[in-house]
Amino acid sequence: MTSTTKAPPLYPKTHIIAASGVAALLSLALLVFPSREVEAKKTFLNLDMDNGAEQAQQNLQSNQADTAAQQDLDSPFAQIEGNDDESQNAELDAEPEIAEQPPEDPRNKTVTVANGDTLSTVFSKVGLSSNTLHEVINSSKEAKGLSRLKVGQELQFQLSEDGQLESLHSQLSDLESVSLSKTDSGYDFKRELVKPDVHESYAHGVINSSLFVAAKRAGLSHNLTMDLANIFGYDIDFAMDIREGDEFEVIYQNKKVGDKTVGTGNILSARFTNRGKTYTAVRYTDKQGNVSYYDADGNSMRKAFIRTPVDFARISSRFSNGRKHPILNKIRAHKGVDYAAPRGTPIKAAGDGKVILAGRKGGYGNTIVLQHGSRYRTLYAHMQGFAKGVRTGGSVKQGQIIGYIGTTGLSTGPHLHYEFQVNGTHVDPLSQKLPMSDPIARQEKQRFLQMSKPLMARMDQEKATMLALNKR
Ligand SMILES: [Zn+2]
Repeated sequence: MTSTTKAPPLYPKTHIIAASGVAALLSLALLVFPSREVEAKKTFLNLDMDNGAEQAQQNLQSNQADTAAQQDLDSPFAQIEGNDDESQNAELDAEPEIAEQPPEDPRNKTVTVANGDTLSTVFSKVGLSSNTLHEVINSSKEAKGLSRLKVGQELQFQLSEDGQLESLHSQLSDLESVSLSKTDSGYDFKRELVKPDVHESYAHGVINSSLFVAAKRAGLSHNLTMDLANIFGYDIDFAMDIREGDEFEVIYQNKKVGDKTVGTGNILSARFTNRGKTYTAVRYTDKQGNVSYYDADGNSMRKAFIRTPVDFARISSRFSNGRKHPILNKIRAHKGVDYAAPRGTPIKAAGDGKVILAGRKGGYGNTIVLQHGSRYRTLYAHMQGFAKGVRTGGSVKQGQIIGYIGTTGLSTGPHLHYEFQVNGTHVDPLSQKLPMSDPIARQEKQRFLQMSKPLMARMDQEKATMLALNKR
């Protein structure tokens, strides 16, 4: 042993732990971040080209700002001349001084909003006075909205012979444009919305590295990919379970204006094969307007949760996110639902899951915590005891009896304290937003099948066609 190893540590133990933690994080970051970042960028870029979704634009805004500003400096006439390749080449060949400018109508002016522009700077660029600006933005509540400019937005001005504002038009998105025109009494504001045609599209992908890469290759937008992951988020842990060769099929709504895709809608049906096992989901809106995804036959309901983990129980306390108690005048949060029932009443697992804990947990007493896929977690507290075979590290099936009602821990009487977490946040298990296994009503089953069968048939047919094409 050398003296250095015997010497007391130079740093307190916590520092060393912290330092090694940082080192671990750094190496993890080095391993993970480069590809992730590239992947994310690709997804957003692709999205932007695909449909110009707002989210993507926001993510790109800083980039666009630079680019737009750059373009503006480089070629101030680009907008007016148009981006015809040939005319640009012709211009490059010619001497700049001699080059004839295309005849410009001085009454038509287009400004592309650059970084730092305001409506005021845009108006002065086309020679309009601040008086006109005030008249415009005070002409109506909607016209005031014109001052919210986006980098890259185009404003087309039409001026009178003496340079006064006649009209102003701006395309805000593929689906929305606004215009303003001079009237005798001021300015008339108009907003035009285009209603896109909704088509049903099919996509298929095989995963080589990640779901995002495969989904992008299959032409799915970032939003659709997130939807797909959420739909199967209960069955499949997308962080841990994905394997090379996993496959998916999706029928989704594609929004088009003319030939241009301007956005996507909902996933209507999907299949996901994970490690050889195929899961199916169909979107269904019941007669009350509730939307949910179901299995193809509408009755297996394996993806959803049992809403009530105890039969024949009475709700003795509901979920509360910490509002003021009317009598006690104290903030009291109750992050679960209490079900009062006689001692020994069976408690069922709300869904298939992994047992993270089956043991004592402070004031919760005998407690079971289940992890369902990557997003959901349920907790069952104050149990008298656990069912045979249920232990930490094991797994349970939906509806399986995991334990019995008791009053262990901080509890005033026999009841189950039940918690539900989505991505680590407590939510009310009685809320309508969770994927609960309220089955499709018997009287709607027929309606559901009428809707789901053609979707299943289309996926079968599309896939068969694709496989046949690949074989050739
Ligand atoms: Zn409780």
